[in-house]
Amino acid sequence: MPMSSPARVRFAPSPTGYLHVGSIRSGLFNWLWARHTGGVFVLRIEDTDRARLVDDAVEQINDSLEALGIAPDEGPRQGGKYGPYLQSERLDIYKSHADKLLESGALYRCWCTSERLDALRTAAQKAGVAFKYDRFCIKSENHKSESDPHVLRFKIPETPAVVGWDDAVRGHLEFKITELDDFVALKSDGYPTYHFANVVDDHLMEISHVLRADEWVPSTPKHILLFAAFGWNEPVYAHLPPVQGPDGKKKLSKRDGAQSVGEYIDEGYLPEALMSFLASLGWNDGTTQEIYSPEELIQKFTLERIQKSPAMFDLERLTWINGKLIREMPLESLLERSEAFWPPDARTFSLEYRLQALELVQERLKFLAELPELTDFFFTDPTYTDGALEAEAHSSRYGSPSFTQQLDKARDALKSSDFSIEQLETWLRQLAADLDVKPGTLFSAIRVATTGKKAAPGLFETLRVLGREICLKRLQAASDLLNR
Ligand code: GLU
Repeated sequence: MPMSSPARVRFAPSPTGYLHVGSIRSGLFNWLWARHTGGVFVLRIEDTDRARLVDDAVEQINDSLEALGIAPDEGPRQGGKYGPYLQSERLDIYKSHADKLLESGALYRCWCTSERLDALRTAAQKAGVAFKYDRFCIKSENHKSESDPHVLRFKIPETPAVVGWDDAVRGHLEFKITELDDFVALKSDGYPTYHFANVVDDHLMEISHVLRADEWVPSTPKHILLFAAFGWNEPVYAHLPPVQGPDGKKKLSKRDGAQSVGEYIDEGYLPEALMSFLASLGWNDGTTQEIYSPEELIQKFTLERIQKSPAMFDLERLTWINGKLIREMPLESLLERSEAFWPPDARTFSLEYRLQALELVQERLKFLAELPELTDFFFTDPTYTDGALEAEAHSSRYGSPSFTQQLDKARDALKSSDFSIEQLETWLRQLAADLDVKPGTLFSAIRVATTGKKAAPGLFETLRVLGREICLKRLQAASDLLNR
C-alpha cells in the first residue's frame, strides 16, 4: 500500500442545529484520514448563515467530537496558526479576497432586489427551467452606486465547457458550465456565502483533502471555479455516501437513533463502540470483520475503501457492538467505566460487592444505563409492587406444596447453608426432590422472592452474592406478603 503524505483535513459543520451521530460520521472519516496519514484534523465552524444559528451548537459540536475521542488538532477550542476557526471571525479575510476577484472581474456587483429575483425564479419555474440569474447588473446602464446595498456575484466563465474532478470516492464527476448559475459570493451584509468562505478557508488553511457528505457534490464545480479564479489548486475531494435510516428512508431521523454522541454516551454507549459503528457507515476494509478498535481503524482506513452506495444506520447493530464490547471487557475496566451508572443505593455497598453484582449482569448488559434496572435488587429489597410475585405465585405450576410453602421450606433449608454455589445447588435440588416438585418450579419461586424479578442472573450465583441474611429476609417477606 503506498503511504500517503500527511493530510490536512477539516470538518466544517454549520452550527445550525445539534450534531447527530449520522452527521459526525464526516468528522470521524476526516479524523481517521488525518491519523492514518500522520496529518492534522481541523475543526472549522461555518457560521455565516446568521439566520440559522443555534445557541450552544458550537459547544455541542466540540463536546461531541471530544466524547467520541476525535478532538480536533486545531479549532475554536484548541486554537492553531490557521485561525480564527469560526468563519464569523474572518470577515475581513473574505472581504479582502472578494476585492481581489472584483478587481480581476471574476466577481461583479449586483443590486437586484429580492422582488426582482423572486419574479425571475417564478418565471423560470413556470417555463420549467432551472433558475439562472440573468446578469442584469453586469450591464453598465443598470449599475447603481457602490454605496447602495448590493451583493457580489461570481461570473461563471464561458470556458471550460465542463468542470470536472476526480473524486476519491465517486470517480470522475463533471458538470456542464451552462448548468451553473452566477452564485452570490458576498452578501449585502458583508458575510460571505458558504461557497466563497469554504473555498477561501480551504486554501488559506492549506486543506489537502475535503471529505464531506455527497449532498455537496453539486456545489463542487462552483468551488473548483473559485479556486481557478484565485489561481489556486483545489484539494482532493472525497464525497461520502449518505447515511439512511434502517428502512432505506432518505433521511435519518431521531426515531432511527439520530441523536447526539453525548446522548449515546449518557446512555452508556462506549466511545469505541460508536466509533467502530460510525466507521462502518460507508467504509469497510474488505473483510467480514465487524468490530474495530480505534487503532485498527486508523491503520486500515483508506479513501479507496469508502463506498459509493448509501450507508444504513442500524441502531440494533450499534447496540450489538456495544454489548459485545461490554461482554469482552475485563471486569475491573467495566467497573471503572460504569461508575456513573450505578443506582443511587449501590454507592453505600462495598466495591467488592458491586464487582460481584456486575460480574453477574455483564453478560446481559447492552448499554450501561441498563445497569440500575438489571442490578437494583442487589442493593434494595424488592417491593413486589409490579405484580411479578403474585403472578408467579398464582401460576398453575404450584399445587401442593403451594408457592408460599415452597418459600418457607427453602428458607428452612438455607438457614444452615454456607451459601457456596455448590452447596446452594446441591441443597436446593435435594429440596425439590424431597418436596416432589420440579427443580425449575422451586427455583422460579425462590428467584422471584429474592430478586422481585422473573428474570435475573443465575440463581445460585445471585443467592451467593446476596448472602444468607438478605436471602432469608426476602424469602420471609415474600411469604408474609402473600399470606396476609
Ligand atoms: N458547512 C457545511 C456543512 O454544514 C460544510 C460542507 C463542506 O464540508 O464543505 O456541512
